[in-house]
Parts: sequence; structure tokens; C-alpha cells
Amino acid sequence: MSLAVERESSSQSGSGEGSYWETTGSGAPRKHEHVTVIGAGIVGLATAAVLVRSGRAVTVMDELQGPGHGTSWGNGCQLSYGYVAPLANEGLWSELPHLLCSSDSPLKIRPRLDPGQWSWMLSFLQACNARRSRQSTTELLELAKLSRQETERWLAMVEPSVLSYTCHGKVVVLPTEAALAKAMQQMKLQEGLGPVQHALTEEECLRLEPALQRFRGKMAGAIHTPSECAVDSLALCRNLEQQLRARGVEFRYGTKVLGFERAAGDSHRVAAVVSDQGRLAVDGMVLAAGVGSRAIARMLGFSVPVYPMKGYSITGRILDSEAVPRASITDAAKKVVYARIGSRLRVAGFAELQGYDSALDTAKIEALVQYTHEAFGSAVEMEPDSAWAGLRPVTPTSVPIIRQSPVSNMFLNIGQGALGLTLAFGSARRLVELIEAR
Ligand SMILES: Cc1cc2nc3c(=O)[nH]c(=O)nc-3n(C[C@H](O)[C@H](O)[C@H](O)COP(=O)(O)OP(=O)(O)OC[C@H]3O[C@@H](n4cnc5c(N)ncnc54)[C@H](O)[C@@H]3O)c2cc1C
Repeated sequence: MSLAVERESSSQSGSGEGSYWETTGSGAPRKHEHVTVIGAGIVGLATAAVLVRSGRAVTVMDELQGPGHGTSWGNGCQLSYGYVAPLANEGLWSELPHLLCSSDSPLKIRPRLDPGQWSWMLSFLQACNARRSRQSTTELLELAKLSRQETERWLAMVEPSVLSYTCHGKVVVLPTEAALAKAMQQMKLQEGLGPVQHALTEEECLRLEPALQRFRGKMAGAIHTPSECAVDSLALCRNLEQQLRARGVEFRYGTKVLGFERAAGDSHRVAAVVSDQGRLAVDGMVLAAGVGSRAIARMLGFSVPVYPMKGYSITGRILDSEAVPRASITDAAKKVVYARIGSRLRVAGFAELQGYDSALDTAKIEALVQYTHEAFGSAVEMEPDSAWAGLRPVTPTSVPIIRQSPVSNMFLNIGQGALGLTLAFGSARRLVELIEAR
């Protein structure tokens, strides 16, 4: 499906809210309010954008040296508005022994001596039931729908090629009849709630995407979501930063949050952020620090159920365009995703619950290189320095935490997990609506 068709169809069903910078609320801009956003990843940047749109002055701080230098750097680049199934589902119980013991499982749980991991795991297992999984799916689809409207409002301001933004759909290739049946069940559950999806036979799938020839004989079928999109996540972060600077947002990089000062006479309020660069007086605050949010919440005496799920990616140059699908692809057998970003292919995969270590594991990178070669032969040449590892900020239910914190002037926008790029703009809009409704 072409980008033009996509934009037309979404504006028909969409927000009807005009250009991005038009305010969504009815009130006049309140320039006197100042909000400090902790975290310059895709979630913090999108939050800053909606805050600016609502008339607030904004400062963004981050311990790293630029926008999107954390998990938003090398992710799978898929805007996956219809493929939001939570990780916690009733089928996980039967897979648990394999996840704990197998060395070749794409999803791996390595128990550690970390009470944070154990309490997260407990909540995760409690969420592994049909009722909760249905509820999470519904909540995620609603948020994804809002996010699509908001993301498209932003992207409508930017020439698509600048961000490698395309909407050629997504195909999830399923290896076995059992996997296909499970995916079709999820598709049925989502009917009417999210984008249109179709089940495809192997022949139909290969007709749609002839570049998947090497999957012939290895699939039972596929699920096709024609309206899904892809965008260069890092380019989007940089574009957000650039446009926000032009609207007066201050960026403080290389500034690590170390603690907070409470307001005199009001212990529920924070008066200043203490960082390795000194003290910064604050008015309102939004915590959007991805996997760093847990430690920051702890500094303020509360806990948030966000834990890192490590993943890896590589990026290759597409040498033969005909031999690489236009749609984003998920190989469900290997749990690897492929997405075109301009003339390059982003390959991302693996999910490890094993703590905060984001070091590269060469075996995982070699596996991604091998999978790409098996899928597309010599049509893709790996870029030498593209190997990357990042930590998804996941909650036990996969539903992000968008709410006020126990601190009266701090709001939370965290835990977008495996879908942070997809959900960032919708999460930001939700959060600012909450702030407005205070
Ligand atoms: C392999 C992989 C593939 C993925 N693929 C996709 C995909 O295809 N589609 C999709 O939608 N999502 C995908 N994701 C998920 C997505 O990348 C994340 O959900 C998203 O990047 C999270 O954004 P964030 O802004 O919350 O976190 P981050 O981008 O990590 O930003 C948080 C920022 O907070 C800063 N910070 C933390 N602690 C402190 C502190 N104490 N002081 C100052 N600053 C601090 C960090 O430096 C960081 O820059 C993928 C993730 C991985 C790992």
C-alpha cells in the first residue's frame, strides 16, 4: 500500500485536528508553566513535543550526549500499530521450561540475584492468563490507534524520505500450523479493535512478497497487516530535537540525574533535580527515562515495575532491491524482524531478561547476520559498525505506565517495552491530557 493511500485513509478515519502544532485542548496557551522531561529517547522527545504544543516551556535532560542515544537508537524501526499482543499470555506457561533452560530460545530468562527481577517476574506470571492478555491487547490497540493519529500528524510535517518513512505493511511469517492457529486466534480477538489483518497461505504470501522465496517450505502461512509502517527511529529522534529546539526547548545532555531536593514544607513535591552537572530548580517534571526510570523512582521512594529486556540489531545495505521485501517482515520462528529504512535493512531480534547489561554478544550478532543471509542471500551487505544492543523498558503486562507519580509534580511516561517507537506519540498525548485534567 502506498504512503499516499495510507495518509488518505488515516485522515478519513483520523483526528481531523489540523497541523501538528495546533493545540488539542480548548484553553489558551499557558507559557508560564515549565516542565522538565527526564530522558531524550523517543518517548521523552514525543512528550516534549506535546507539552510544547500545549503551551508549556520545556527542558529535556539526558545523561547521554544526544537525542535517541539509548534504546531508541537501533531498534527494529517498525510502526507496528496492529501487532501489539502482550508478551504475557496464557500460552507462556507451557513454554516456560524452554525459556529458562534452552540456549537457543530467542526469548530467554536468566534468573539473577535481583529482587527487582523476581518481583517483575512474579507480576509477569500473574499476567499470563487469557483475561489479562485480552485486556492488555485492547488497551494497547487503543493506545496504538491514538499513536497512529499523533505520529502521522508529526510525520506530515516532514518529507517522508528524510525519515525513511514508508507504509508497505507488515507480514508475520509463521513456521507451523500451531503458530498459525495461535496467530489467527489473536487476529480474531483484535477484529474491529485494530487495523485490518488477513491470514495468508504460503502461496498468497509469496505472491504478495516474492522476495520471501527462501521461506518456501518453511512456513505454514502468514498474517498480513497492510497498513503498517516503518520509520528510521534515530532520524525521527533527531528531527524531533531539531524542531523542538526551534520552538525554544532547552536540551541538557551529559546530565545524569543523581537525586532530588524536596520542596520546603511539602515533602510530596520536588523543588530541584540534582545531577552530576549541578542543581536545577524544577516546576513540573515528566519521567521518561526508559530502563533508567526504576532507579530514578527509587531515589524518590517509590517503585515502578519496569525491567530491561535486551535485544540486538544490525543494519545492512540493500544491494538488490528486488530481492528484499518492501513490507516489514517478522520471522516468528526466530523472532527476528526486518524493516527497510531507505536503502538499508534493519534486522532486530532476541529478548533476554537478564538485567541491565547492554554489552554486545557477538554470538547474537553473528546469528542475526546468518539469519539475514539465509533469508535474502547476498542481496544485503552488512554495515561493519552497525552491531547494536539495547534494553527495552518492559512492564509485566506490556502496557505502558502513563500516570501521576506519588510525587505531586512528577508524571510518569515509561514502560513502552517492545513498542516504544510505535506508542511514543500516543503515550505523550495521553500524558499531557492527564496533566491538563489535573
Ligand atoms: C532490539 C529492539 C528492537 C525494537 N524494535 C522496535 C520496533 O520495531 N518498534 C517499536 O515500536 N519499538 C521497538 N523497540 C522498542 C523501542 O526501541 C523502545 O520501546 C523505545 O526506544 C523506548 O524509548 P524510551 O524513550 O522510553 O527509552 P530510551 O530511548 O532508552 O530513552 C531513555 C533515556 O533516558 C536517559 N536516562 C536514563 N536514566 C537517566 C538518568 N539517571 N539521568 C539522565 N538521563 C537518564 C537515557 O540516557 C535515555 O537516553 C525495540 C527495542 C529493541 C531493544
